[in-house]
Amino acid sequence: MSAPMQKPFRFLLQFFFPARCLFCRKHLPYDAEVPFCESCRLYLASLSPRELPIPAGSCLYLLDYAADIRRAILAYKFHGKAQYAKPLGELLVPLISGLGQVDVLTWAPVSALRLVGRGYDQSRLLAEAAGRILHIPVKRMLRKRRHTRRQSRTVRQDRAENVRGAYSLAVGCHPAGCRIVLIDDIVTTGSTISECCRVLTDAGAREVICVALAH
Ligand SMILES: [Zn+2]
Repeated sequence: MSAPMQKPFRFLLQFFFPARCLFCRKHLPYDAEVPFCESCRLYLASLSPRELPIPAGSCLYLLDYAADIRRAILAYKFHGKAQYAKPLGELLVPLISGLGQVDVLTWAPVSALRLVGRGYDQSRLLAEAAGRILHIPVKRMLRKRRHTRRQSRTVRQDRAENVRGAYSLAVGCHPAGCRIVLIDDIVTTGSTISECCRVLTDAGAREVICVALAH
């Protein structure tokens, strides 16, 4: 489409399908550059990474998994809103850029069965959105060898048991000596990300830094 056509087209598109803030659903101006309203943008800019104790040590995270943010992440994860990956993944950029030199970004993968059902691996897309901006390679390092019950439907004390041995190293992946950022979308007890971290550490990773979008 030619450049002079873009503005009226966007205006019409906005008229029929008004863009809304990803978090609070407030209408956005038709020329909004980011999918967040002014107040949500200010809130996001005020956040700094927090640390959650997990079985593998600690996990850095950014957002509280509650209210509007929870609704947006659930829509991303369970209701086919794959287009949310870019803005959500980009929220991780300041967090990862503060970690010093990182060799590779990877993610806690979903099982093949879940991938077929959902059509995308939500943590992979987050890692790719952040990696594109940071110019850090994003590589699959893990695979989920068996389907597990959804952690969100598993009682707290059974979560570690549910994921034990569920992940292995991806074929052709060599984490030895690497400083790796391991990304997950939501951490609750941290059982899943800890199990993934263990596999990478056992394979000789120099350091694995766990990062999640929300807790
Ligand atoms: Zn908002």
